[in-house]
Amino acid sequence: MTVFRCANCQQPVTSEVVPGDPARGPERPPNHEVVPPRVALGTFKTNFDGTLLIFHPDDVPGTALHSDQRRISGCCGLAGQDGPNLVCARCGVEVATKESDCWTENFVALMAAAVTDVSERAPSN
Ligand SMILES: [Zn+2]
Ligand SMILES: [Zn+2]
Repeated sequence: MTVFRCANCQQPVTSEVVPGDPARGPERPPNHEVVPPRVALGTFKTNFDGTLLIFHPDDVPGTALHSDQRRISGCCGLAGQDGPNLVCARCGVEVATKESDCWTENFVALMAAAVTDVSERAPSN
């Protein structure tokens, strides 16, 4: 199990998760609806270049919505096309982008540079 913490204040921002199966294809249904989450609850995936960690929308309890209304625009959910829209619930640093609209994917993309993986942290000297 791994918990990702805010790199700025060390608050946990995710649930306990394990690496998940490969992502399903990006195809969307043709109707006006929100697609099922990209990854299963309790799992995460790393994107192709390692800069993003893809989570189920319910696996980021330590985040809060961005205070900038332009960042949290959307139709049926959050579009996530205007920059990070989730912040650390404790210190307010931008940590992730959530897409959950009827024409986007449905996931939370944590910025790898904004979090630390506690399972890999070296002991301090
Ligand atoms: Zn819609
Ligand atoms: Zn923080």
